[in-house]
Amino acid sequence: MNADQLADVVAGVSDPEIDVGLRDLGVLRSVSLTDGRIRVHLTPTRLSCPAVGEIARRVRAALAEAAPGHGIEVVWERGAWQPAAVTAAGRDALRRGGYRVAGTAPRCPYCDSEDVEQAGRFGGAVCKVPYDCRGCGSTFDVIGTAGCNAMLPTPVRGGSR
Ligand SMILES: [Zn+2]
Repeated sequence: MNADQLADVVAGVSDPEIDVGLRDLGVLRSVSLTDGRIRVHLTPTRLSCPAVGEIARRVRAALAEAAPGHGIEVVWERGAWQPAAVTAAGRDALRRGGYRVAGTAPRCPYCDSEDVEQAGRFGGAVCKVPYDCRGCGSTFDVIGTAGCNAMLPTPVRGGSR
């Protein structure tokens, strides 16, 4: 396998919270293969930042199965994620999951109403901001609006885990 094929393997790993691949979510930055060692650069979304350990575990498991015998290093690039990096497919998946990505005026993902109001500071995770829709009464979360870099763990390097 070359680095491009390995990147496709990582792209197929789903976020633990939303059923969408890491590339579509804008999480996958790059994959390199040097001297039998795979190095994966990821950047956590504000949505998935509490789940970086689980994402790294899934990436390692997928790569270990696709390319046995390689060293695997997962490098988190803090603060590099941009809502604009989410692909159209990723935005669709997020909308199906009841999420909106920050950067545009919040609209209800269920009825598309713009008649929404922020319901509080934080949602289910610190990275989300909850909104109420006055059109259909749904609640939904907008991600990427609140910083959470402070709660990221120290990047794990080397072959541990
Ligand atoms: Zn609505």
